[in-house]
Amino acid sequence: MSNKITMGADGRLNVPNSPTIPFIEGDGIGPDVWKATKAVLDDAVETVYKGERKIDWIEMLAGEKAFNATGEWLPAKTLELAKEYLVSIKGPLTTPVGGGIRSLNVALRQELDLYVCLRPVQWFHGVPSPVRHPEHVNMVIFRENTEDIYAGIEAQEGSEKAKKLLQFLQDEWGEGGKIRFPETTSFGIKPVSKDGSERLIRAALQYAVEKKLPTVSIVHKGNIMKFTEGSFKNWGYELAEREFGEKVFTWAQWEKIKAAQNEDAANQALKQAQATGKILVNDVIADNFLQQILLAPQDFSVVATLNLNGDYISDALAAAVGGIGIAPGANINYKTGHAVFEATHGTAPRFANTNTMNPSSLILSGVMMLEYIGWTEAAEVILKALKEAIMRKRVTIDFYKLMNDATLLKTSEFAEELTKSIK
Ligand code: NAD
Repeated sequence: MSNKITMGADGRLNVPNSPTIPFIEGDGIGPDVWKATKAVLDDAVETVYKGERKIDWIEMLAGEKAFNATGEWLPAKTLELAKEYLVSIKGPLTTPVGGGIRSLNVALRQELDLYVCLRPVQWFHGVPSPVRHPEHVNMVIFRENTEDIYAGIEAQEGSEKAKKLLQFLQDEWGEGGKIRFPETTSFGIKPVSKDGSERLIRAALQYAVEKKLPTVSIVHKGNIMKFTEGSFKNWGYELAEREFGEKVFTWAQWEKIKAAQNEDAANQALKQAQATGKILVNDVIADNFLQQILLAPQDFSVVATLNLNGDYISDALAAAVGGIGIAPGANINYKTGHAVFEATHGTAPRFANTNTMNPSSLILSGVMMLEYIGWTEAAEVILKALKEAIMRKRVTIDFYKLMNDATLLKTSEFAEELTKSIK
């Protein structure tokens, strides 16, 4: 029997009992945190499924390790493996400086068209946090991963491209006057499409339906960027009403009822929708959202946003629940099934091979991977073990420094702490 995970015609993954899953251990602290992660994942699967299920790992090369072995930062073979086996996991990668590739992560996302960057943000009891009520933070961010200013269409000040673009704006659009210093302006283009926005927002809504979550918030800067961010919001509302019908109540519907009748009637409709378990789809301007996640994080559950906003928001929320050492992530194409689960922190090169860094980000990304392939029982035991280790204050240096009376563990010892607890 094949060991490949495949996408079924019904849009569900077919997962064999011994799926082959490619991994990239990563650069810098990658090997330390990957070793710890692999030990915990294997142990949980073995303990829960008693040998009936087992992950068959194969290594893919990328980053410095690949460069040293093959002369390439991202060998074609790696992309082939990631494509062929659908689901993979990776540690952090060094971004090559001055090379042909801007970022290996961006290259992977583009090659596999991984349009959702999924970042769950939740607080584990006892994790040191800079906010007063980190327990109120429990959100899942859906960040669009393939468009926006990240498309990389830019023109440097003084270049031929910049001059031509300026000329075009002056001659064809009559917009030259809006550019304050034409001679010294660089440009960046922000492509945002209806197709790209809809597939991201659809994924966020489906997630909310499956997990029975109360709200989906479209976070945007449409008050300023009307045709990109503003359209993202409008397309989102239209899609929610068109495809999710009775399952949702949108803020756009609220506005319509208010305009046709009055505010009381709109509030009444909202109340009724919430009482009958409908998902509230609303929108929040990005700057206000960054304020609200400090003031009232409990008001948000699922967040759908464009690429750049998502970048800022993910880090701000990660900080609220304990920082990058514990924030997991995944890049997913829900149509093809392709998914790359990843540590969200970088390679922290100063700490390479010190066996001191926190492996929780990659371990929790592994938990997301187990959930994604439907091995939820194994995911649950790891989560429980991780929560217990933090409660017992047996932690790595990042948390140790911020906790009173904690016990300092090395990366590998933290993994052992979890495996002991799983058994
Ligand atoms: P970084 O995340 O590597 O490190 C910043 C600081 O965060 C570290 O000095 C350390 O104090 C702390 N930190 C990071 N991971 C931690 C962990 N697991 N446990 C405890 N503390 C941790 O960011 P950087 O220094 O800006 O980037 C270093 C390299 O990593 C660069 O080459 C960058 O391009 C790359 N990078 C890769 C990814 C990725 O592969 N997803 C993400 C970000 C940065």
